[in-house]
Amino acid sequence: MSATILVVEDEPSIQELIAASLQHAGHLVLRADSAEAALQLVNDTLPDVVLLDWMLPGLSGIQCAQRLRAAERTRDLPIIMLTARGAEHDKVAGLEAGADDYLTKPFSPRELLARIKAVLRRRAPQMTEDCVDVDGLRVDPVSHRVHGNGQSLELGPTEFRLLHFFMTHAERVHSRAQLLDQVWGDHIFVEERTVDVHIRRLRAALEATGHDRLIQTVRGSGYRFSAQPE
Ligand code: CA
Repeated sequence: MSATILVVEDEPSIQELIAASLQHAGHLVLRADSAEAALQLVNDTLPDVVLLDWMLPGLSGIQCAQRLRAAERTRDLPIIMLTARGAEHDKVAGLEAGADDYLTKPFSPRELLARIKAVLRRRAPQMTEDCVDVDGLRVDPVSHRVHGNGQSLELGPTEFRLLHFFMTHAERVHSRAQLLDQVWGDHIFVEERTVDVHIRRLRAALEATGHDRLIQTVRGSGYRFSAQPE
């Protein structure tokens, strides 16, 4: 499981140490040495996880977490707070600000990687390699195979990612902009009607086993993957 991870840390030696162990584990690392730089950076590239130092010059890690949670684009971005503090009330404050987890310095690279994996599994299940089954439709992210009632279905790579995202985020309405962020990786250079084109292809690919019924259009809002009838 390789993820794009934003490291927000003002201490150069710690930032370097964290970045090196993440890269060694196969992750792509983005770096910022302040909350302001981090907020700017996520406008261009949406990471899969943010490692956020508590004590930063300017905006604090807590304030940064609150801002990420308040913006639609970054509302669901997994955040792990990093801090030298170990006090229980600090931990509570971090979690209340919207952090998903909390690591007290010093921590081992192994512990950091384990926490990242756990947070991704929880917050971004499409990042994991587990098979997903819904109503007879099965997606295997390792082999990139899709089966409907045991029958093999052919999907293009974008339709595959779209279906995998839908199945790991079922019963929720996703706007076209959200789908572009989550499935295409970024929304900047792709027009929203591109989503409609790929939804059409995805439905056509699922028609053979009737699973196209699971992809529902929500008028004025976007799309929903649901096993419940519309
Ligand atoms: Ca610091």
